[in-house]
Amino acid sequence: MTTSTHGIRSPERTGAVAARATGLSKVYGQGETRVVALDGVDVAFRQGEFTAIMGPSGSGKSTLMHCMAGLDSFSGGSVCIGEVELSGLKDKKLTRLRRDRIGFVFQAFNLLPTLTALENITLPMDIAGRRPDTEWLHQVVETVGLSGRLKHRPGQLSGGQQQRVAVARALASRPEIIFADEPTGNLDSRSGAEVLGFLRNSVRELGQTVVMVTHDPTAASYADRVVFLADGRIVDDMADPTPESVLERMARFDTKRRTN
Ligand code: ADP
Repeated sequence: MTTSTHGIRSPERTGAVAARATGLSKVYGQGETRVVALDGVDVAFRQGEFTAIMGPSGSGKSTLMHCMAGLDSFSGGSVCIGEVELSGLKDKKLTRLRRDRIGFVFQAFNLLPTLTALENITLPMDIAGRRPDTEWLHQVVETVGLSGRLKHRPGQLSGGQQQRVAVARALASRPEIIFADEPTGNLDSRSGAEVLGFLRNSVRELGQTVVMVTHDPTAASYADRVVFLADGRIVDDMADPTPESVLERMARFDTKRRTN
C-alpha cells in the first residue's frame, strides 16, 4: 500500500474493484433467432488498471461493455460499479450513475463542432450543473498535452487530437471507470498511438481505471491486462501483454475456427 502526502491511499495499489460482472448472461431474441451473446461471464476490473477486451468478431465484447456500462440490460447475473448493483436501479438512478460515475469514449469522437476543445471537455459537467474541480481539470489538460489548443474547435484539430479531447471529456468528471469502444478504430497508427499513450498516462499518472474494447494487438499492448472472449465466455486473461503475445493468442482462435 502506498500513502500520498495527503494520507490518501493510491487507488492503483489498493486492488479495490471498480467494476465487476458475476455470472453475467445476455440473450438476444427467441426461438430460432435466439443468440447467447454472454454466457456466464465473471470478470473484475481493479481500480487504476488499464484492461483491453479482445476476441473474435461476435464473441460478445461490445455486449459485455454495454452491459457493464449500464447502456444495455442483461438477462442474468449481476454487474456492480463500485458497490452499486446495476440491476437494482430504476431508470433515473441508472442514468445518474452513468453520468456521474462512468466515462465513455466511442470510435466516433462525438464532439460538438461549434464548441472549443475546452468547452467540449467541460460540457457534460456544465449540463449536469456541476463545477469542474479546477485543479483536476488542469491536471487532465496537462496530461492530454493540448494546452495550446484548448480554444480550437474540433474541425481545427487532427483526428488524434479530437479523440484526446474526447478522452479528456470522459476524465473531467473523475469517473470511477472509463469504457472505451474501439477508440482508435477511426485513426491512423500515429494518431492511435497518441490516444493510447494518453489513455495509459491517465491510468499511470491520474489513477484512472480504463476498459477498452479493441481488435488491434498493438492497441491492446498498451493495457496492463488483456481479457479474451470467445463465444460469450472469458477464455484467457493475460498480464503485461506485448503485440506479439496478443497476436499469438489471437492466432489460436483462427486455428480453432479452421479446425472446427
Ligand atoms: P463483438 O463485439 O465481439 O463483435 P457483439 O457483442 O457485438 O460481439 O455480439 C455478440 C453476439 O450477439 C453476436 O452473435 C451478435 O450477432 C449478437 N448480437 C449483438 N447485438 C445484437 C442484437 N441487438 N440483436 C441480436 N443479436 C445481437
